[in-house]
Amino acid sequence: MFKFQIVESEDIQAVIDVLKSDWLTTGPRVKEFERALAEFVGTKEAVVVSNGTAALHTMVSCLDIQEGDEVLIPTMTFVATANCIVYRKAKPVFVDVNPETLLIDLEDLERKLSPRTRAIIAVDYAGQPCDYEELKTVAQSRNITLLADACHALGGKYQGQPVGSLATASTFSFHAVKNITTGEGGAITTDDVVLARKMRIFRNHGISEDHHQRDREKTWVYQMTDLGFNYRLTDFQCALGISQLKHLPQWIERRNEIAERYNKFFARVPYLEPLKTKSGVLNAYHLYVVKLNLEQLKISREMVYREMKNRGLAVNVHYIPVHLQPYYREHFDTGPGLCPRAEWVYERILSLPVSPAMTNEQVDLVASTLLEILESNLK
Ligand SMILES: *Cc1c(COP(=O)(O)O)cnc(C)c1O
Repeated sequence: MFKFQIVESEDIQAVIDVLKSDWLTTGPRVKEFERALAEFVGTKEAVVVSNGTAALHTMVSCLDIQEGDEVLIPTMTFVATANCIVYRKAKPVFVDVNPETLLIDLEDLERKLSPRTRAIIAVDYAGQPCDYEELKTVAQSRNITLLADACHALGGKYQGQPVGSLATASTFSFHAVKNITTGEGGAITTDDVVLARKMRIFRNHGISEDHHQRDREKTWVYQMTDLGFNYRLTDFQCALGISQLKHLPQWIERRNEIAERYNKFFARVPYLEPLKTKSGVLNAYHLYVVKLNLEQLKISREMVYREMKNRGLAVNVHYIPVHLQPYYREHFDTGPGLCPRAEWVYERILSLPVSPAMTNEQVDLVASTLLEILESNLK
């Protein structure tokens, strides 16, 4: 139907320029992209890595989350939010979500705190920033670290503050479907300069001196001080990211226009309800999610999904609650009943396509097709 990503001709030229230059990786574009990101979100530091999952892994590793620790996360997220905790042999504790927003539920979060809780990873589901004020209060009073998986929400704001500056550290993804793309890519933003230095070492095998430093000091000696990974992002990807970031404010505006357009279609129908956006936030609208009112329909969510797909419309379901995944059931003894509201809402949600690449006609086609399918299947 359409592409999710937009790659403008100046984006392409920026990549070509790097391909013709001396540095394909670990060159000047990396630092430049990091500075641009840090400036965009208003933090002292940004560290770019090879993808969003690497960003999560780097973040929890450099904060020394380890075996015996518990990390609270909403169950309504991509599996990577939980997996990064397991990479550290720590335990993800699944928290239920608010059915109106699908953001982490503060009451259930309080219930699931324990003396072993080291951190919370809040997820800005669909692009809507979480209740950071309340989350900060809980984290501070319990002396735990507040982190953000902001992979959906680059370009969003909470009480005027950019997403990426609202937690001790925040992660982003630049996968092709995200708000800006470098193909694959990721970043962590933070005001903690020491943490950022650690993260740059971690993404480079745990080696403390980089090749620029060795060059300056005329030495081949390098020291591996900690166990790290190769999570570097190339210069041509960074060039694409720098160029993409310039378009972002305008793209977020367009995402909001599309969401408004969908909202108008759905305002007065009782058999479907869009997620709510709280006041005081700028929703980055990575996803536009509706809940089907199954009680009024003869048709299941799966049938609606298939019917839309049959008509060539790119609907999806974000996400299967992570605590229902076979891996977590087997290894962490999770299962149905652990997060009842997420389980209830999971049966009803459908993500409609939203991308600044969409025309109004395409938005209208998606909305009217969905309404038509539902109206012909009312009880
Ligand atoms: C996309 C995404 C990730 C993972 O990012 P990748 O770049 O695909 O590794 C993690 N968490 C959330 C919420 C995401 O949407």
